[in-house]
Amino acid sequence: MAKDIHHFIGGKLVAGSSSRSAPVFNPATGEQSGTVVLASGDDVRTAVAAAKAAAPGWAQTTPLRRARILNKFLHILEERTEELAAAITAEHGKVLSDAKGEVQRGMEVVEFATAAPQLLKGEITENVGTRVDSHSMRQPLGIVAGITPFNFPAMVPMWMFPVALACGNCFILKPSERDPSASLLIAAWLQEAGLPDGVFNVVHGDKEAVDALLHDPDIAAISFVGSTPIARYIYSTATSNGKRCQALGGAKNHMIVMPDADLDQAVDALMGAAYGSAGERCMAISVAVPVGDRTADALIAKLEPKIRALKVGPGTDPEAEMGPLVTRQHRDKVSGYVDKGVAEGATLVVDGRGLKLQGYEDGYFIGGTLFDNVTTDMTIYKEEIFGPVLAVARAPDYATAARWINEHEFGNGTAIFTRDGDAAREFAHDIQVGMVGINVPIPVPMAFHSFGGWKASLFGDHHMHGPEGVRFYTRLKTITTRWPTGIRAGADFAMPTMK
Ligand code: NAD
Repeated sequence: MAKDIHHFIGGKLVAGSSSRSAPVFNPATGEQSGTVVLASGDDVRTAVAAAKAAAPGWAQTTPLRRARILNKFLHILEERTEELAAAITAEHGKVLSDAKGEVQRGMEVVEFATAAPQLLKGEITENVGTRVDSHSMRQPLGIVAGITPFNFPAMVPMWMFPVALACGNCFILKPSERDPSASLLIAAWLQEAGLPDGVFNVVHGDKEAVDALLHDPDIAAISFVGSTPIARYIYSTATSNGKRCQALGGAKNHMIVMPDADLDQAVDALMGAAYGSAGERCMAISVAVPVGDRTADALIAKLEPKIRALKVGPGTDPEAEMGPLVTRQHRDKVSGYVDKGVAEGATLVVDGRGLKLQGYEDGYFIGGTLFDNVTTDMTIYKEEIFGPVLAVARAPDYATAARWINEHEFGNGTAIFTRDGDAAREFAHDIQVGMVGINVPIPVPMAFHSFGGWKASLFGDHHMHGPEGVRFYTRLKTITTRWPTGIRAGADFAMPTMK
């Protein structure tokens, strides 16, 4: 029986007024597991009204009290990690150990946000002029919204709302309609932790709901994570409506393997970074760039047997290293990219197409795939595939490898594997990418740093969580104070200068 998946508005599950809905599938079996309601503009308006009613009270709640609620929520997440991970695996398909890792990385942002009183401390300067003081404070924006992708149904919302709530904002989450259930567990547990109704709301939907959020005059800011064409649209629409916006887009992350790298370490790193979560990660490595043919030949020789030995299975199988893709359409799209790579002349070393698992014949599986001799003019090099497909592009030297990265449309993450400190330093300083790993394949910043790419991987001025998150979800007010003795001298009609 497919379950009905409803909105969470004003502290209650509600079906909403729209007649539109979408099926939700178990990617391992291909069976429909749920039906999610798709919000109309009126449903979005109802959520905004609930947030609006709660906003003044929440903004007035002291940062310490807000932090205590987040702290309780953190404990609930710790106790129920398995439950949330199971909900993720059931609709996304990733293996359970990976789903637990996702919850853990999200919890770290909640942990960061429990420092709200510290994070919201202002600055004061005594005597900016004689007997005149200035202080600055960061105040909440009001109502903010988050629009999130399918690939991290718990972690990406947790990049956003813990910081937004800690800063005193009310939050409306529009999760991916492909795996919507995790967001409802989060909503229920925030309520259980003591969050007042209306402070956190979940509205399910597609473009119609997103457009209603983008045009709503009561929403002050939009955080988005998803593909680049939608990120570009979200950023231009939100900002033209006077909203603050951070919109994170797609990626094509390269990993340079220098001739002096520890090759076994590089191969292990590539296996996890290219095939973990079936490549459906914005920080996945999708292009390996060995420098020199000897490095390339040795890399391929070590990678090939490991890819052939990858254990593909349903996410609930503790032995599985890689689960299915999220939908049938996405699996077919990824498979189509493999066809295209062959047609464009890349060497297909391992072909994952057409994989069928006994007992899971209708699941959306594809095996690990490896291409060699990929060139920068090929579609499989230029576009984000978002599947377990690794392209090896052979570079003659370091300068060429770095130039390819700098010339690519995307600039989310990148890595270099080397023992040469000088090459590593030059790479870190000069590369045009937002997140850089030195012998670290997936350099996702911890919660107390900020996450974000460059170029077509991020539109806006602020990265997510960490100090940048606090800046994004607050606005600065600076107060200059003079007490009566200063006024006794009488009015001054000249432009005020500090004396
Ligand atoms: P997507 O762009 O299709 O969807 C993201 C969100 O936008 C969803 O909530 C969806 O409902 C909504 N949406 C989809 N089409 C829309 C439209 N036409 N108008 C308005 N809203 C629309 O992305 P996805 O397939 O869910 O996620 C995968 C993408 O997300 C990949 O490109 C991946 O690189 C990217 N991603 C980026 C990061 C990052 O940090 N840069 C992190 C995770 C995922």
